[in-house]
Amino acid sequence: MGYRPPVPEKLGGMSAGYGLMFTCRGCTRGVCWPMPDLIKRWGEEGRVAAIAARLKCGNCGRRGAAIETVPVRDERATEGDRARSKLEPVDRLMWDLERS
Ligand SMILES: [Zn+2]
Repeated sequence: MGYRPPVPEKLGGMSAGYGLMFTCRGCTRGVCWPMPDLIKRWGEEGRVAAIAARLKCGNCGRRGAAIETVPVRDERATEGDRARSKLEPVDRLMWDLERS
């Protein structure tokens, strides 16, 4: 597994080479976003807890995801990549951001 840095308060505080894994507390479906995608979407001032609170699971409807950091250095072989591949296509995640 290796070292994982703590979840930062804001996206700008994330360590390079890591992403965030959001996991539904209800049905354990999850999605991993690499840091560049997160910052593109919410900006460096985006608050991680606020983002997680807004996420709504498209599978069971539960809001408020659990968050952890995941290494995304090697896109082809990381845990995050495997997690993403279970949820293809990425834009139709089990998560509904717009309506939350
Ligand atoms: Zn769920």
